[in-house]
Amino acid sequence: MKIFCVGRNYAAHASELGNEIPDEPVIFMKPKSALLQSHTPFYYPEFTNELHYECELVLRVSKNGKYVQEKFAGKYYDAITVGIDFTARDIQNELKAKGLPWERAKAWDNSAVIGKWVPVTDIKNKKDINFGLYKNKELVQQGNTGNMLHSFDRIVSYISNYFSINIGDLIYTGTPAGVGEVVVGDILEGFIEDDKMFELEVK
Ligand code: ZN
Repeated sequence: MKIFCVGRNYAAHASELGNEIPDEPVIFMKPKSALLQSHTPFYYPEFTNELHYECELVLRVSKNGKYVQEKFAGKYYDAITVGIDFTARDIQNELKAKGLPWERAKAWDNSAVIGKWVPVTDIKNKKDINFGLYKNKELVQQGNTGNMLHSFDRIVSYISNYFSINIGDLIYTGTPAGVGEVVVGDILEGFIEDDKMFELEVK
């Protein structure tokens, strides 16, 4: 199982971190060990002093593929949820400044959170999905897939030109504006429309 992530897929988020808006999707990966298993507590990692949440819609790959054309890409994922791409922002800033890879900031154990799955067939319009993140009952991030720079199908197709995609792989599709810090004791809740997909306490 592989975890793909898309960086800078919402223009407002790219700007808030002072990044340019890319023409092509920015892709990075997390290993399987990054996935927080359900019922496992999430602990604030020791190596960072600036842990950020990034609330993102996540796709679950349901068909093996390679060089998938965009027009067929919708057949390659069957479920969607909302999750968190936890990021050690202090480490990421340091790595970015040196032009180094991001794994130490992004790919550590339990940095990938997912909620419960919703079948794609339950989604009325994939280009108009509202999702959001509450921190301690306050709405901190709000996104709509209409604002994505690269659609789900474009992302799946693009990734499959470089990596084979396999059943069970996950694709984090990018975070909207509003990323921010968490501290121990914070409660995070992810929503798609009005449905709560996960609740997590930072321990
Ligand atoms: Zn992200």
